[in-house]
Amino acid sequence: MNVLVINAGSSSLKYQLIDMADESVTAKGNCERIGIDGSVLKHAPAGGDKVEIAKPMKDHTDAIKMVLDALCDKDHGVISSLSEISAVGHRVVHGGELFNGSVLITDEVKAAIRACFDLAPLHNPANLIGIEACENAIGKDIPQVGVFDTAFHQTMPDYAYMYGLPYEEYTKNKIRKYGFHGTSHKYVSQRAAAMLNRPIEDLKIVTCHLGNGSSIAAVKGGNSIDTSMGFTPLDGLVMGTRSGQIDPAIIPYMMKKNDMTVSEVDAELNKESGVLGVSGISSDFRDLTAAAHEGNERAQLALNMFTYSVKSYIGSYAAAMGGVDAVVFTAGIGENTAEVRADSVEGLDFMGITIDPEKNKVRGEEADISKDGAPVRVLVIPTNEELMIARDTKRLVEQ
Ligand code: AMP
Repeated sequence: MNVLVINAGSSSLKYQLIDMADESVTAKGNCERIGIDGSVLKHAPAGGDKVEIAKPMKDHTDAIKMVLDALCDKDHGVISSLSEISAVGHRVVHGGELFNGSVLITDEVKAAIRACFDLAPLHNPANLIGIEACENAIGKDIPQVGVFDTAFHQTMPDYAYMYGLPYEEYTKNKIRKYGFHGTSHKYVSQRAAAMLNRPIEDLKIVTCHLGNGSSIAAVKGGNSIDTSMGFTPLDGLVMGTRSGQIDPAIIPYMMKKNDMTVSEVDAELNKESGVLGVSGISSDFRDLTAAAHEGNERAQLALNMFTYSVKSYIGSYAAAMGGVDAVVFTAGIGENTAEVRADSVEGLDFMGITIDPEKNKVRGEEADISKDGAPVRVLVIPTNEELMIARDTKRLVEQ
């Protein structure tokens, strides 16, 4: 069975074609600048040369058509006809409280995704356009599945997801913690159980998804019981360009002091803050670690703030779960930056969490980096959201 995985953004569309017989990726790529001058499709067939096809894509339907043509192309294609695609799995960012798992796309599901537009105004409309573009291009006969970033966190108890606001803000305006990166937290927690060769039901795991957007989750018995992102992905850790958790009173104070509008504050908190804002250098951890090594104090400060916030969440979630068996590092920073991993658990040996400096040299592959005999295992696990989406798609289609 070939499953096409689609991750549609506002002006981009990433895809992977996965052969579920051995879960191998037969082709992957990205449409960039959809609806903007200079649209391009970058297509990489497994084992073949990458191709770049520059052609106008006025909308996502054009983009999907180009992807399907590339997959079936006689030179750089990997299938001979569309009939070889059995199903399509879509990443959908926000499922609100309506979805606690993946679902086959129906008209009702599309209406529910639309009902969540308010909660994710940048992402959900693009995700729905991706779904409808596939229907237009491939037809309604091929089943499609929606996999939601928020679904894995729907198991959080109410005392973890509620904010200390008037209750009507929840009932009327749906203001609560939803959490994001759920597909990644679910995937790495399942891999952690497999690596430890223990049933996930018995495990307490802190999963640290550290990328340009970062979040941490407390996964107890395979269920998310708390996570650091909140109503939106702005909450929690200091991130590449996002502030993470701040005192909410700072917002009206900044508006008054700097004479700012709501959208200006929103842009500052999302795009100009985080380690970029603090360091004044970059949101990229490769640039920050290089600058810190050269003695740049603000780069070092930004890194210290980041690792301190990771450490605080590890401690807090160990308390929430009544213990911890494993800490997992994943995503761009978690998989690649040894210094960040080491600093994030520094001083946690009192909890049984330690890292072996030699083992910590690993990059981008699964490894247990804890010291021999340590009671808590520290694991590096490359995330694979696309594979998780493909597996859910296959499961639902076969059902
Ligand atoms: P993501 O959002 O998961 O793609 O992660 C992006 C972040 O991961 C950026 O801050 C990068 O600096 C960092 N990152 C990605 N690849 C590497 C690498 N090979 N070495 C160090 N950091 C990396």
